[in-house]
Amino acid sequence: MGTDRNEVVNIPCPCRQGRIIVTNCSPDHDYPRNSQSWRDEKILCRDCEPKYCIVEQEEKLVLVRRQECEQTEAAKKQKLQEMERLKQELWENLEKNGELDAVVGYLNSFKTTATAYRHLSNLNICLGFDDFREKFPKQNCTKERVRQYIYPQALNKLLAQMQTPSKILERYFNHDLLLQSRTIPTPKPIGGPILVLNR
Ligand SMILES: [Zn+2]
Repeated sequence: MGTDRNEVVNIPCPCRQGRIIVTNCSPDHDYPRNSQSWRDEKILCRDCEPKYCIVEQEEKLVLVRRQECEQTEAAKKQKLQEMERLKQELWENLEKNGELDAVVGYLNSFKTTATAYRHLSNLNICLGFDDFREKFPKQNCTKERVRQYIYPQALNKLLAQMQTPSKILERYFNHDLLLQSRTIPTPKPIGGPILVLNR
């Protein structure tokens, strides 16, 4: 099976010694699906290729400086890593402070799964009774299960329900909000768009 290649852009690169070429590709059979298509972007120039790259911004393909593009990627990665670390620290602190044990104790204090479900279904931690029963086995729930199935927002509600609100969670939400609102620099397009993507 071959590939259908449809060149949609063929323009000079910034130094005008080479070309920028964008090709839409799809498998060469009678009914190619959209999901099987892909786009091939190339800067065919020895001088420009190391300096620039092509990225998608607001439904357009634009040329940006490679260095700016790398800075953006690094900033995104850093943000994700910090969010992960913050969550890791949250669970460690909850464990140290005994809150995790208290939650496990509470979950295991219900006589039947149905009673537990009635008290906990408002937390949106399951897709229904069967799912609940699988995730939180009767009087046999563990810290691992709490970590795995109860995300911080739900845990916050649960601790409020247990009438033991947590300062650790409050600090986590504040830090998380700060991190979420950190802006990531967007690489500045050089010149006009290479291609407007119509979807
Ligand atoms: Zn060039």
